[in-house]
Amino acid sequence: MAEQKQRAEILDGRQLAEQIKKEVAEEVDRIRALGGVQPCLAAILVGDDAASVVYVRNKVRACAETGLLSEQHTLFASTSTRDLLELIDSLNRRDDVDGILVQLPLPKQIDEASVIEAIDPLKDVDGFHPINVGLLAMGRPRFMPCTPAGIIELLERNKIEIAGTNACVVGRSQIVGRPVASLLLQRHATVTICHSRTRDLASVTRQADILIAAIGRPAFIRGDYIKRGATVIDVGVNKITDPVEARSLFGEESGKRIEAIKQRGYTLVGDVHPTEADQIAGRRTPVPGGVGLLTVAILMRNTLQAARQRREVIS
Ligand code: NAP
Repeated sequence: MAEQKQRAEILDGRQLAEQIKKEVAEEVDRIRALGGVQPCLAAILVGDDAASVVYVRNKVRACAETGLLSEQHTLFASTSTRDLLELIDSLNRRDDVDGILVQLPLPKQIDEASVIEAIDPLKDVDGFHPINVGLLAMGRPRFMPCTPAGIIELLERNKIEIAGTNACVVGRSQIVGRPVASLLLQRHATVTICHSRTRDLASVTRQADILIAAIGRPAFIRGDYIKRGATVIDVGVNKITDPVEARSLFGEESGKRIEAIKQRGYTLVGDVHPTEADQIAGRRTPVPGGVGLLTVAILMRNTLQAARQRREVIS
């Protein structure tokens, strides 16, 4: 009989996201009972980009689940930088608003950098303001950006050793690659950051005990990019529409995926080739059901933290 191959363990983001939201809900109840503080998140959506509409809806829904107050400000796609800055200024001034989230990307006419810089750093629950980026780079994070913080949470709660390991991050974006590299470094990993100019990428990623893919290219990280037994964190969210491609990527799951393509026109795949990773990696995160759900849970936690810090809630 052929020897049964060991498959990578799947790191379940769904369960952990529920656990984090439960912890936030308990703490929200506690501080409400203590001093009547109910944290509030203001979410700003500019335009009607389909993905952004869904992301904001999920964030507002998660607020309701965790007992946070929320308000959604939906602006026309033609909104000017000035109008958006005025809204942010009014939210900065309101004492009852603890967190401000501007859903990115913004329409082209808006100066994204000045919008991010306009948010009060104490209400910057996404952690994108230069002051918060600087604190993170110094190893003194105030608000950890949500996706990177979710990745760290996933590693730590699954008792995956970080200190002393080789960690490789593919992607150097401001929202994922760079901050997650900082957080891994702070936890004493030896960190390599790769990008589109990295030479012989596979030879670098193959050294990694922890491999984080935040690239935005479907199934780009193949089996030969992965060290045997490594932990692979797949941040990518990519749509595929071709049933033949789905069959080659999803193995046993391909029937379900092809059905999804028939029903709604697409299925999601990460930046890592799932069936090839399953043969080589020790553990991997699925897409969907991995990192994405954690991002929202951490946003709730950051909003709670903002309220505690700004309103000086004493535990
Ligand atoms: P991004 O800003 O588009 O940056 C992509 C990065 O990948 C860049 O640094 C780029 O290198 C690098 N890259 C592109 N092609 C490459 C190649 N062939 N070899 C090596 N590196 C390459 O990405 P992002 O915003 O971080 O998003 C990445 C992915 O994560 C996307 O699929 C996005 O949808 C997803 N995402 C998911 C979540 C979540 O909550 N699950 C959150 C955020 C993002 P250069 O810098 O050299 O161009």
